[in-house]
Amino acid sequence: MEMTHVNVPPVNHVKVLDGQGWVGLIDKLGTETTIVNAARVSFGKIREEMNDNDVKLLHYLIDNRHTSPLEHIVFTFSVHCPLFVRGQWHRHRTWSYNEISRRYTEIDMEFYVPPKLRVQAENNRQASVACESFEDDALRELIRKQNEASLKAYEDLLAAGVCREQARGVLSQNMMVTFWATVDLSNLLHFLELRDSDHAQWEIREYAKAIKKLIKPVIPHVAGYFEAKGQIW
Ligand SMILES: Cc1cc2nc3c(=O)[nH]c(=O)nc-3n(C[C@H](O)[C@H](O)[C@H](O)COP(=O)(O)OP(=O)(O)OC[C@H]3O[C@@H](n4cnc5c(N)ncnc54)[C@H](O)[C@@H]3O)c2cc1C
Repeated sequence: MEMTHVNVPPVNHVKVLDGQGWVGLIDKLGTETTIVNAARVSFGKIREEMNDNDVKLLHYLIDNRHTSPLEHIVFTFSVHCPLFVRGQWHRHRTWSYNEISRRYTEIDMEFYVPPKLRVQAENNRQASVACESFEDDALRELIRKQNEASLKAYEDLLAAGVCREQARGVLSQNMMVTFWATVDLSNLLHFLELRDSDHAQWEIREYAKAIKKLIKPVIPHVAGYFEAKGQIW
């Protein structure tokens, strides 16, 4: 059978960054019934389907930070993002990751060009704010040229016989990478809280929002709980 390239988005995916990146849900384990059953294991009882009392139990668990039952739901995502987003994402140690390696392959290289440029925030060195007065086209062209130059340097180094593992050092932070990431629901909620926040960079925030869209059909009551509280969702 033909193999599919990892850079091809899975069927269930959401595009982000003006269509340059995406995140897809490629696998999942468990349902909301799994959460309440996991909580009830303490009493030695489980049920096949959720009822209204189970929804109350679910809310009780979240309210009281009884989070271990949430760990029985697991998601695997495929993520196509710039290198700098990957750097922020991989700080989350409770996820498992596997990534395309530039030690093995030099094909399908793409580079991110921000759809809109932002200025540095004055009162927060980590933050940025939208700017209407930017000559976006010219500045974005500067970024595109720099991306291209980094690819050209990489290709020239390979052509001269330099190994991929050293040549990749010249590739820009805008290079798109693809990785698989697996996480349980409890740690995913923590990620979403931190990364879909005003404090997070716009680019990673886009991915956090996309993940919410992908997982909401799997966990409608959990999502509904946070939406009603104005938290996370
Ligand atoms: C807006 C923002 C700005 C940031 N800025 C910076 C920055 O300037 N510099 C920088 O270096 N990082 C920065 N970070 C990264 C941040 O410090 C965390 O590394 C990242 O958010 C992952 O969070 P976490 O450790 O809670 O997640 P995970 O690694 O997924 O861990 C989840 C939880 O598990 C527990 N846990 C995991 N590992 C351990 C452990 N070894 N010991 C004890 N408990 C553990 C903790 O309770 C933790 O909250 C920033 C993050 C955000 C959201």
